[in-house]
Amino acid sequence: MTRANPYEGFVSPLDAGEFRSLSSAVSERECRERHGFGTFAEAAAIYRPNPPCPRCGLPDPGRDGFTDSGLQRFECRSCGCRFNSLTGTVLEHSKKGMPTWVGFVNVMRFNVPLDAAAELCGITHQTAFEWRHRIFATVDGYQDKIVLRDTSWLDETYVNDTDLSHGYGEARKRGLSKQKVCIAVAIDVHKNPVAVVIGHGKPSSRRMEEGMLPHIAPGPHMVHDREKSHGVLIRKAGLTDEAHKADVRDPEYLEGMQMVNSLCSWIKRYLWRFNGMSMDNLQSYLNWYVYLFRVKQASERWPETERVVRHLLTTAARYRSST
Ligand SMILES: [Zn+2]
Repeated sequence: MTRANPYEGFVSPLDAGEFRSLSSAVSERECRERHGFGTFAEAAAIYRPNPPCPRCGLPDPGRDGFTDSGLQRFECRSCGCRFNSLTGTVLEHSKKGMPTWVGFVNVMRFNVPLDAAAELCGITHQTAFEWRHRIFATVDGYQDKIVLRDTSWLDETYVNDTDLSHGYGEARKRGLSKQKVCIAVAIDVHKNPVAVVIGHGKPSSRRMEEGMLPHIAPGPHMVHDREKSHGVLIRKAGLTDEAHKADVRDPEYLEGMQMVNSLCSWIKRYLWRFNGMSMDNLQSYLNWYVYLFRVKQASERWPETERVVRHLLTTAARYRSST
């Protein structure tokens, strides 16, 4: 027999406003018990206790009370700038609370389509769109820091460009057409991944070099297929290389390329849901993918949601509305 819930009598008479307040207190508590913080103020106290001045960069600002929502306020000792612990982060000026953001971070970790993300998080499509771009802003340039070392593997994968301006909807051309966008994908033996948009159609040597050379430390060993555009890159990076002919019946080829092939297929699986997305965002999706790939590797040491929230709070980034 089901026992009567003693709180039913308490919840039923609440008016809409009271019920909203109760719901948000319940969500905050759930979030706090799962992740260690229930509000922006609590998360900022953990991950951003002492932010530098957003105007002049001076560290260790003076404390200056709290905002209405409990955020620590600061005043810069040098330029006098007054700010709070969310200033300069993508969580600044958010009208929704931390539990809604945590929910959104989680659906973005699984790459749920935007409509579904909006529905699941109880936000509008427009808000979901903006939040996704806010998150993308925090991984802008994220891959710039990644440099492959020792043995690494290089390959390309292609996605359809569904942008009408590139002829989507016209008769499909045979073979590799300009409708496809090339993504160069590489991973080193330490499992550092790189995924860079190289442009439409087959990559030229120059575009391959521009895309990948900044990510390669001098002198490692590069395993790749005999794609022509790799030659210049390999010479300029001073790599020794092991080129295998792309032959799926060759066990040596299969073994050597397995790591980069897996990464290519994960990326393809990750991108397929974005059929119809703007190609301008493709590199942002790849940055976010690479970021998550590394977060996942460390997930035993550091739970993923907490890690991403810390990243959002410690990265100076701003969402620039294109409208
Ligand atoms: Zn200052």
